[in-house]
Amino acid sequence: MMTSQTQNPFYLAEMTWPQIEDYLKNKDSILLPVGSTEQHGPTGLLGIDFLTAFDISMAVSQKTKTLVGPVLPFGMALHHMAFPGTLTLTPTTYIKVLVELIESLQKHGFKKVWVINGHGGNIAPITTAFCEFLNFDQKMDLQLINWWHLEEVTLYEKEVFADQNGFHATCGEISTTMYTHEEVYKRNPQIKLQEPGAKKTTWPLSPLEFRKHFPDGRMASLPSLANAHHGKIIFDKAVDSIVRKIHK
Ligand SMILES: [Zn+2]
Repeated sequence: MMTSQTQNPFYLAEMTWPQIEDYLKNKDSILLPVGSTEQHGPTGLLGIDFLTAFDISMAVSQKTKTLVGPVLPFGMALHHMAFPGTLTLTPTTYIKVLVELIESLQKHGFKKVWVINGHGGNIAPITTAFCEFLNFDQKMDLQLINWWHLEEVTLYEKEVFADQNGFHATCGEISTTMYTHEEVYKRNPQIKLQEPGAKKTTWPLSPLEFRKHFPDGRMASLPSLANAHHGKIIFDKAVDSIVRKIHK
């Protein structure tokens, strides 16, 4: 999706600089999707957090005619490093990357940045990056949206998955990508998980402690309950909810 062409005329990667200059004559906001590349249990895709952030942001962008930047696919996922395929930045690096991206946007004249986040481990560093940035530019309007925390999303997930939604490799995020990446799940091996993953523990954990406590990577979730039908409902709720916030 990210390297093939899209249908979105507001996707920065498929625009030219004069188009961005024109956009800035009337509008000063941009969506910045951020995620992570990390294990999502034995059935979830490593890209879930950035794929959801990107796809949701693209839909919001088209509905609100708001510019959307390319997705940042790497985040703070140190605790998932005992699982192959996870790619992480350290918190300090990630904060710096965010501050410098926001600084780039500010220099072009953007005044409002909606960071659309798909990963829990990013929340603390994003908040810190906002504080760092606002320390030298108090006028910048920085908004963080953790899409899976949106009220409409959590209410629906609670209703259909109850406690088995879990905290990582959740039924909600796996359902969402089963909707957006249906063919990918079909070609992956089908593993039927019978029991939810281990319960939450004290935090933070080192990579080895994490794998010891959550041997297959899931945190209290039972992704076998996930499906594309729920995924579409969750996706639409997340998009509509963000659109409402932008129009407020
Ligand atoms: Zn995730």
